[in-house]
Amino acid sequence: NRIVTRDLREEDEDVELTLRPRSLDEYIGQYKVKQKLDIFIKAAKGRNEPLDHVLLYGPPGLGKTTLANIISNEMGVNIRITSGPAIERPGDLAAILTNLSENDVLFIDEIHRLNRSVEEVLYPAMEDYALDIIIGKGPSARSIRLDLSKFTLIGATTRAGLLTSPLRDRFGVMCRLELYDVESLKKIVIRSASILGVKIDQEGSEEIAKRSRGTPRIANRLLKRVRDYAEVVEDGDITKEVADKALKLLEVDPLGLDNIDKKLILTIINNFEGGPVGLDTLAASTGEERTTIEDVYEPYLLQLGFLNRTPRGRVVTKRCYDYFGIECKGD
Ligand code: ADP
Repeated sequence: NRIVTRDLREEDEDVELTLRPRSLDEYIGQYKVKQKLDIFIKAAKGRNEPLDHVLLYGPPGLGKTTLANIISNEMGVNIRITSGPAIERPGDLAAILTNLSENDVLFIDEIHRLNRSVEEVLYPAMEDYALDIIIGKGPSARSIRLDLSKFTLIGATTRAGLLTSPLRDRFGVMCRLELYDVESLKKIVIRSASILGVKIDQEGSEEIAKRSRGTPRIANRLLKRVRDYAEVVEDGDITKEVADKALKLLEVDPLGLDNIDKKLILTIINNFEGGPVGLDTLAASTGEERTTIEDVYEPYLLQLGFLNRTPRGRVVTKRCYDYFGIECKGD
């Protein structure tokens, strides 16, 4: 029940639809990804071809679904949205593929969770826009090939390494989304506030941005909660002071750190003298999954400069000791 979780919570759903940018211009930050996609989209449109298949990877809440929608808008085509776990059988995927129109986008979220037999249907579909169907059983079984409309597959996953290599190799465009810096998150908060009709000043938006763990989804969620506080307890406007009071009340740490971040850091400090400690050892001592540490917690701690990755393992930095008010012994 963490307010700073990157995962989609039920309360986010309505507001996310309203706040979702519709064009590349409106999409804040991620300059490299935007630049790359802008060129590829223009080139594909110029040739009247579908965009090459795109893999978007990075932690949840950074804007992968948003980008997939933007790509289809910019290409002027329809988008069909589904997810890895939702496609249970090869026939389910075949039905989706045969219903796509020329140049459409098929977005598969959590694409690493497709099961193997479904994934195999994707290979010829991605490569040759074709569907291989087996008819009959045993020695009399034969395969026929059905042509599909040309389409763009956009896959989203938390980490490219989670995909099997045959699937990964079939994506022509790979885009890695990075955690957002405070400046970009501030712009996102200001944009969202204006859509929601909330008055917020620069410092108020910065307070929210700093606690958002580099993640637009969290920034929007915190903005909504702070708005509630501002409307009920204050005069409705969000200033630094109002944001600060509201976020304190919600027990959001000044950097958006939560208990698991703290547990990880304190484990390294108390049990391993600040590191280096290997990821597997850290996972075993904290009871968290190795991949969760790597995908969910570590990126933000690295961005803050609280953790360093060294060849011998993770090391807590002096800045982190200072933040937690713990004396750094090696210093
Ligand atoms: P993901 O698919 O990576 O989990 P989403 O695309 O659902 O993330 O993004 C979560 C929310 O964050 C969106 O509804 C949108 O409002 C906001 N968002 C994400 N990226 C941006 C961005 N670059 N600029 C503005 N808002 C963004």
